[in-house]
Amino acid sequence: MRFDDRTLARLATAVENRDPQALATLAALPPGHARIVGITGPPGAGKSTLVDAVTGALRREGKTVAILAVDPTSRITGGAILGDRIRMQQHHADGGVFIRSIATRGATGGLARATADLARLMDAAGKDYVLVETVGVGQDELEIASLADVTVVVLVPGMGDDVQAIKAGIMEIAGVFAINKSDQPGADRLERELRAEWQTPVLRTVATEGQGIDALVELIGTATVRERLHGGAADTAPLRSRLRIDHLGIAVESIDAALPLYQCLGLVPTHRETVAQEKVRVAMLPAGESRIELIEPSAPDSPVGKFLAKRGPGLHHVALRVPDLEAAAARLHAAGAKLLNEPRPGAGGHLYLFVHPASTGGVLLELIQEKLI
Ligand code: ZN
Repeated sequence: MRFDDRTLARLATAVENRDPQALATLAALPPGHARIVGITGPPGAGKSTLVDAVTGALRREGKTVAILAVDPTSRITGGAILGDRIRMQQHHADGGVFIRSIATRGATGGLARATADLARLMDAAGKDYVLVETVGVGQDELEIASLADVTVVVLVPGMGDDVQAIKAGIMEIAGVFAINKSDQPGADRLERELRAEWQTPVLRTVATEGQGIDALVELIGTATVRERLHGGAADTAPLRSRLRIDHLGIAVESIDAALPLYQCLGLVPTHRETVAQEKVRVAMLPAGESRIELIEPSAPDSPVGKFLAKRGPGLHHVALRVPDLEAAAARLHAAGAKLLNEPRPGAGGHLYLFVHPASTGGVLLELIQEKLI
């Protein structure tokens, strides 16, 4: 899908403002092929200059680029963060670069959601690269970094305590460390420290001179995300792979009667419980990345009991895991889908909602999201 820049800019603004029609349009767009690159680091690390240099290198390769500059501390002035005005003028004549500034959205999580949706939009619009530039402190930015296919953490020599300040979450999800301003004293020491503590590739750049940029661009194209954060504070898998079938729910008359067949296939229940609010007992059987959920009614008036009486045992629902359930619910609602409940917490602390089979092509669809700690 291609848009001219004016249409894209208008749609981006509407998506940022959570306009239901724009969100529905976005939801209906097929995904593109963009590589989403997070570029993060403390103020003064030269991120903007680095992003500009990377953009220039990508443009020389004929790639199209969208830059999403996220700065929760800045105030928006006439649609742009003040400092980005200069940069917009710089790339103004280049139709292959789309730039959008995103400032604070109020409540925590709003910024991450707006950024995620804009990244999706740029992807769907056919951009080759989406560069998401953030300051690299705070939960919002950690979530934003977790959207990316790869995150570059930009550091500078002589940061001292600043490195400690951003270590908490961002360092763990780095796919590449870039020591920018590496012509300054202390670069050797910083590189030694990084190499001693992390297995992440370390690269030296001087963005103002264009040094190290080609190597960085090559790494960006090949590096993969780090695995999950230590302690599981957030899911850091790439955006697209965070959508997956979580489980298939199968309605049975009796879990105990159904289990032996699955067990003889090597599937073992790791978890059994009664879910009072749904009037069911469930057994969860991990199967690779997904699970099979056997469900039996726990009360005579259980919806699953009615399902069994009407349809007999069989596939009851498909559960899809999404990164942001509220955003998914808003998009489904805007698209006219029949939602059976608001997102609500389940027994395991996750959020879930059900979508009526009439909206999904005939199967009850469960959407779930792990609770962010
Ligand atoms: Zn389920």
